[in-house]
Amino acid sequence: MRLSQIKQVAVIGAGIMGHGFAQVFAQKGYPVFLYDIDKEILKKASLRIAANLDTFIKHGIIRQKEKKAALEKIATTTDLREAVGKADFVLEAIPEIMDLKKEAFTKLDQLAPPHAILASNTSGLSITEIGAVTRRPEKTIITHGGNPPHIIPVIEIVRGEKTSDKTAELTYRLMLKLGKKPVRLLKEVPGFLFNRLQFALYREALHCLEEGVATAEDIDLVVKAGYGFRLSILGPLETSDFGGLDTFYRICQNLFPLLDASKEPPLSLKKLVEEGKLGVKTGEGLYPYPPAIARRKIRERDRRLLQQLKLFQARK
Ligand code: NAD
Repeated sequence: MRLSQIKQVAVIGAGIMGHGFAQVFAQKGYPVFLYDIDKEILKKASLRIAANLDTFIKHGIIRQKEKKAALEKIATTTDLREAVGKADFVLEAIPEIMDLKKEAFTKLDQLAPPHAILASNTSGLSITEIGAVTRRPEKTIITHGGNPPHIIPVIEIVRGEKTSDKTAELTYRLMLKLGKKPVRLLKEVPGFLFNRLQFALYREALHCLEEGVATAEDIDLVVKAGYGFRLSILGPLETSDFGGLDTFYRICQNLFPLLDASKEPPLSLKKLVEEGKLGVKTGEGLYPYPPAIARRKIRERDRRLLQQLKLFQARK
């Protein structure tokens, strides 16, 4: 299959990630079937996509007629055969549970045309293991994007042991065509790069919070106004080159033995989860989120991310 032969797309799972990916494909003119097992989630997904597009209009990223064109490209369905029967590229975004993914890929393999590529947005499960349930492991691959997927540019492309060069190359070019910044991993490692790096920082941030080193606000501020302020311009490796590898080497010697190296999530996080304090979605997590504040914070997050996206696109 050539890139120009990818004409119909299916997105499986219409939650946080799936609805955003459906939007990304639709904005580039691909007809998309958005599938979920839950009709209510599909209704919500359509509303969320329309709201995302309105935010794009508000920030001058698209015009009204592009919103209309994108919405016309998306059809929702609870019929998997309808969703993938004519798909050339299928992107799965269902919950991060290996058995569920295997079950879904078994069905996708049966119902999608033999030439279709089956991609997963898993955050860290093995595509070698998921792809092994299909009769086309060479056409299975990971395309892992960040949340919100309609804004964050990077897509990690991870091959399984049997993924073919053709599938990897085609997927890479498709992601470029979608306006994304694809990155090829040279090895299949758990958590890929995005989550290995993100969770190394998260472990230390939680550790500092639990040890009473600073408040949650100040820990986040050190990242937002300090370490993270630089990160979208200079990655951690470039940062060390700019800072001097001799200095960074000495700091590694001093600090590595003292950094948190826990193999389990901290008890404070476990307790919050057990109490149902799951963050924005339940109104409380590490911070309180009464409904009005949650709405304001989401709007503010999107506004700032879109400003950053515009700068990022301008520098390409
Ligand atoms: P989510 O819970 O928001 O959405 C999952 C959706 O899948 C739900 O709408 C659910 O109804 C549906 N679903 C459940 N079983 C299904 C099935 N058998 N077939 C079709 N639909 C089914 O989850 P999410 O956050 O969108 O995560 C989806 C995937 O993306 C996961 O693998 C996750 O690890 C990955 N991911 C999530 C994030 C994030 O920040 N949320 C970031 C990157 C990757």
